[in-house]
Amino acid sequence: MTPPPPTIAAIATPAGRGGVGIVRVAGANLDAIIAGVVGRSLEPRLATVVTFHDERGAPLDSGIALLFPAPHSYTGETVLELHGHGSPAALRLVLARCVALGARLAEPGEFTKRAFLNGKLDLAQAESVADLIEASTASAARAAARSLAGEFSREIRILVDGLIELRMFTEATLDFPDEDIELLRADNAAGKLGALRARLADLLARAQTGARLRDGLSVVLIGRPNVGKSSLLNRLAREEAAIVTPIPGTTRDTVERQIELDGIPLHIVDTAGLRDTADEVERLGIDRTWAAVERADLALLIVDARAAANVLDAGDRALLARLREVLPRIVVHNKADLADAAIRIERRDDDGPARTHVWLSALTGAGVELLEDAMRAHAGVGSAIEDAFLARARHIAALRDAELHLVAAAHQLTNVSPPLELFAEELRSAQLALSTITGEFSADDLLGEIFSRFCIGK
Ligand code: GDP
Repeated sequence: MTPPPPTIAAIATPAGRGGVGIVRVAGANLDAIIAGVVGRSLEPRLATVVTFHDERGAPLDSGIALLFPAPHSYTGETVLELHGHGSPAALRLVLARCVALGARLAEPGEFTKRAFLNGKLDLAQAESVADLIEASTASAARAAARSLAGEFSREIRILVDGLIELRMFTEATLDFPDEDIELLRADNAAGKLGALRARLADLLARAQTGARLRDGLSVVLIGRPNVGKSSLLNRLAREEAAIVTPIPGTTRDTVERQIELDGIPLHIVDTAGLRDTADEVERLGIDRTWAAVERADLALLIVDARAAANVLDAGDRALLARLREVLPRIVVHNKADLADAAIRIERRDDDGPARTHVWLSALTGAGVELLEDAMRAHAGVGSAIEDAFLARARHIAALRDAELHLVAAAHQLTNVSPPLELFAEELRSAQLALSTITGEFSADDLLGEIFSRFCIGK
């Protein structure tokens, strides 16, 4: 028999002073720690006011002790929570006492890792714990909470169940080589596959929206001095974020601000005016600007709406030419109030690849909401924010992988006489990809499913 994993302990509340601080302990047997720290037995799940003691019986702190006997706890082991005062020094003393009584310091994420290993959470849920804690906006927090509650995993499981059903039927028909394709057609395999693909596409859109909520959108503001970049940034941020001044070339440093657009974190980079200069300080700013451009998801090119007939001048064109071709961009014609230009939004193909043009006034705020609309569109939010799952890159990659295999499977079915082994293999690969998200897949699972749900009578 393998010995139980060691007892672990950690301060569960953030560093710093606060009203309450919690030391959490998890392990197979916490009797010695309970006796040594609390000095009395504890009723399961009952908050008990106690004094925490050192080895000589001197008080370290007083607070509440909560005992969650296995398996009804966060990690599935016996868990003890010691709620003391939020004093870093006192919490360290209580933690040290637990360590002296046999616990070791927990590694980052170790409680949640144990919860996963003990089947309390699946992998996607375990990840959402960290995402919830790290969420930087209310929408991101809600999306993480949905994943933690198991909604994302449930969607994955529905897809996996559908795939298993299709696989079972396919595997069964492989026993009747002469009729296999007819059997599959009679079972409407193509229709079922199509429904699974639609469901997967929906899930992918929701996950992609969630990835945006998690990682945000990096937007770079580009434009020659004095066109109004700082003013626009302030408008978007609705605060005095950058220095606005009528003297050209004063926005020397890259100013990065995080603002929120409908729950999506926007990392906005104001730039130092991309133009050739002999000024060394300005030169540095320009280098930094280009580094920011490299990382950006979207560029806002700010031009003066008074430029003749709204045609970009040579300098603007030169700027556009230096951007990565694939970098989406919005041309903002600012100072529309001075140009007497109508506030509007247009999609144009006049200067190379299609791009969005917005006429607005950073000074008055007119048209800024049109720009926000355009940015929202560029954020690639494929589904309503309130439906999003706070997905990670790993989830998106797995969903895309599954999608590719389902496309390949559908392609097999279009053959007159499709090699069903290949069809079955694509379904298997799609299932495997999805199962990596929840961390649940094993061959035994599939066999169990087959035999429990499909009696082939032989
Ligand atoms: P930056 O150098 O590109 O960051 O430009 P600023 O934001 O510092 O703006 C330069 C000047 O233009 C300031 O005096 C702003 O008040 C003015 N400005 C910015 N946007 C507008 C606008 O939409 N209309 C008008 N009339 N003035 C603006």
